[in-house]
Amino acid sequence: MADKIYDVAIIGSGPAGYTAAIRAGQYGLKTALIEKNAKLGGTCLHVGCIPTKALLFNAEIYDHLKEGKEFGLVGAENVKLDWAAIMQRKNKIVLKHAKGLEFLMKKNKVTTIAGYGRLTGPAKSGVFDIEVEGAGGARTITKAKNVLLATGSEARMLPGLEPDARILTNIEILSLDSIPKSLIVVGAGAVGVEFASIYKSFGSEVTILEMLPRLVPLEDEEISKELARVFKKRGINFYVGAKVDKVEKTKDGVAVSITADGKAQKIEAEKILIAVGRKPNTENIGLEKVKNIKVERGFVHTNEWMETGEPGVYAVGDIVAGMPQLAHAGAMEGLVAVARIAGKEAKPLKRELIPGATYCEPQIGSVGLTEAAARERKLDISVGKFPFAGNSKATIVGSHDGFVKVVAGAKYGEILGVLFNEPAATEMISEAVTAMENESTIEEMMFTVHAHPTLYEAMGDAFASVYGMAINA
Ligand SMILES: Cc1cc2nc3c(=O)[nH]c(=O)nc-3n(C[C@H](O)[C@H](O)[C@H](O)COP(=O)(O)OP(=O)(O)OC[C@H]3O[C@@H](n4cnc5c(N)ncnc54)[C@H](O)[C@@H]3O)c2cc1C
Repeated sequence: MADKIYDVAIIGSGPAGYTAAIRAGQYGLKTALIEKNAKLGGTCLHVGCIPTKALLFNAEIYDHLKEGKEFGLVGAENVKLDWAAIMQRKNKIVLKHAKGLEFLMKKNKVTTIAGYGRLTGPAKSGVFDIEVEGAGGARTITKAKNVLLATGSEARMLPGLEPDARILTNIEILSLDSIPKSLIVVGAGAVGVEFASIYKSFGSEVTILEMLPRLVPLEDEEISKELARVFKKRGINFYVGAKVDKVEKTKDGVAVSITADGKAQKIEAEKILIAVGRKPNTENIGLEKVKNIKVERGFVHTNEWMETGEPGVYAVGDIVAGMPQLAHAGAMEGLVAVARIAGKEAKPLKRELIPGATYCEPQIGSVGLTEAAARERKLDISVGKFPFAGNSKATIVGSHDGFVKVVAGAKYGEILGVLFNEPAATEMISEAVTAMENESTIEEMMFTVHAHPTLYEAMGDAFASVYGMAINA
């Protein structure tokens, strides 16, 4: 019997790969999804987005109960954490969605193939041979007309360190037996500040070490400042401009030598989390066998349709050069790539319209240009800012921290960027993304009705504040 030839084979079942597979199935493409792990879902589902947000929700409820008196919930402040139950709930959520993915693959007629996939060379007569190494080292060949590389990323470590029970990455920290008394977090990007926030809420003494001069260094400076203010209020310690010189194991934990403010210091804790970025998984997937794929520092270059230089080979997700390592970016890249393969209508992804979402407490949401980036480009801009202190729903939920900041073109009122810092920022950013995707102006958004009382009502005020016309401030 002739070998089956798939229209597309996808290597990696994270959000970039599984989203592409489902859509490819919907388009009627013969689709194979190759995954080396026992379960589908990748970093995002198993050791990233989903388990962290499950823990963050526990942390949020716990924080509210600790302040129960303010809400008339007498005695709530004495609530105890059952760590095993918290971990069980998190695991149940992950498992439910992993099973959901298996169901979706069947529903959309996607063939899942267990094993480690790698390219063996360019297409011969339009067909690629993908070697799949299964359990026990058995090797088989999967044939496909197109290949989507979606192999994702893994945590970078500091030189000389290996993860273990005390030196943690995002993987180990998500299955601890107990809440550490103290935790050092190296790196104040999204992953670092989220774990810092979670474990502080659960009672750990948390210290963040960041090499750059501010927390969340990729966000607007005012956001970093506000986050630093709230983290200080919450008792989260941090050093910025801090260089980690050495990490040593002590009898019960770790000792970290740092240089901060020109001074050498030593900090000790029970555990240390290394959250200094993510390395693309592009070694040993056969890229060297396909000469036309440009790889730079491990990242794969693509055009706006996610095509690499090798006809028929696409790259999506965390491995793509110049794109943010975010699940929703990868998922959309997957959709663009398979639409291209299927010859369907699609829109290339615009880098500046991919929202950033950081789920610490307080949350951060952002899209488009920061004020500093707009000024660097010498754009003629107007900036509006609305603080949540003027929003009635913020008073109801007991959180007045943060603001909405809007960066707009001074002449035509086009929206260039929107940034938030407050409890529901990651949900509220959606309005800004939609407005920018549809090229709405400030005037149009000022006459868009916002339900009352809501947190997102602050958007209407923030848009109006560009012209100094916010109602509630
Ligand atoms: C702690 C943490 C929290 C995060 N929170 C968020 C968040 O809230 N929102 C957000 O948008 N992003 C978040 N991210 C980032 C997000 O997880 C990634 O951007 C996303 O998972 C990338 O998707 P991907 O499909 O490219 O790769 P991955 O999710 O990494 O999946 C890649 C898959 O490919 C498989 N694979 C690799 N090589 C091979 C091979 N050769 N053969 C077969 N299979 C292979 C892997 O086993 C894996 O299943 C978070 C990340 C971390 C670490």
